[in-house]
Amino acid sequence: MKSHDRVAGKLKTSNSKPGKPGVARQPEASSGAAPPAKRAKTGTDRGAEKRFPGDKTGSAAKAGKPARSSRTRLSKAAIAEMFRRFREADPDPKTELEYVNPFTLLVAVVLSAQATDAGVNKATRALFKVADTPEKMVRLNEEGIREYIKTIGLYRNKARNVLELSRQLIANHGGNVPRDRAALEALPGVGRKTANVVLNVAFGEPTMAVDTHIFRVANRTGLSSGRTPLEVEEDLLRVIPSEYALHAHHWLILHGRYVCKARRPECPRCLIRDICLFEPKTQ
Ligand code: SF4
Repeated sequence: MKSHDRVAGKLKTSNSKPGKPGVARQPEASSGAAPPAKRAKTGTDRGAEKRFPGDKTGSAAKAGKPARSSRTRLSKAAIAEMFRRFREADPDPKTELEYVNPFTLLVAVVLSAQATDAGVNKATRALFKVADTPEKMVRLNEEGIREYIKTIGLYRNKARNVLELSRQLIANHGGNVPRDRAALEALPGVGRKTANVVLNVAFGEPTMAVDTHIFRVANRTGLSSGRTPLEVEEDLLRVIPSEYALHAHHWLILHGRYVCKARRPECPRCLIRDICLFEPKTQ
């Protein structure tokens, strides 16, 4: 059974290792948020409405007290119910990236930029057998790393970054992955999204790594109308109840990857269809 087949009304992750989510890159936040009723449509909204005109569902979620964000159109009760369902369907979601320790998680996330998790896993299975620590990665050297990851896009730059971040971990952090956002983001190839993934998956912090899937799901459902990943991240951290904060990132990524797909969301089998505010739902 393909992994996406397992995720209809019931979210499910694939084969993953012990650990959790993964992935992306953040622009600066813009300040002003349009009022919910008059907000500008995002590219995601516009494109989707052109493709799926008609449906008027979603009004149930508009009732109730608004969540604490001017960019969030869903009520607090609707958001709580959304995540209650995600948790019920998949109580312990995991990242689909394969890794064996915080270092290999960090490397896998760096390699996953503009690449699929499946493609990264294919390359890292062999790489991590020979280099699962910064010291071993440095011994492998840039050319050696390239050989293992040459099936992944941008592999030359990524090999350079993996080597250099390994060197810096040895020089500055005793060979360990730091549990610190600033220290993580100072590493080559590591941006805000990658740091969020590592903090969440390796260290259990309730961060929100907004990738293309989360950005789309948040805007469609009404969780956020942020125009940048950072705005969406801020909204989600503000409105998602704390009891769901640790896993929210995975639930939203998996929902976007397997159900609320970019080109044609699978609304008929979506477990939050009656909550989602996306108007042109698919039939
Ligand atoms: S798949 Fe679900 S979340 Fe996505 S637009 Fe359709 S109803 Fe909304």
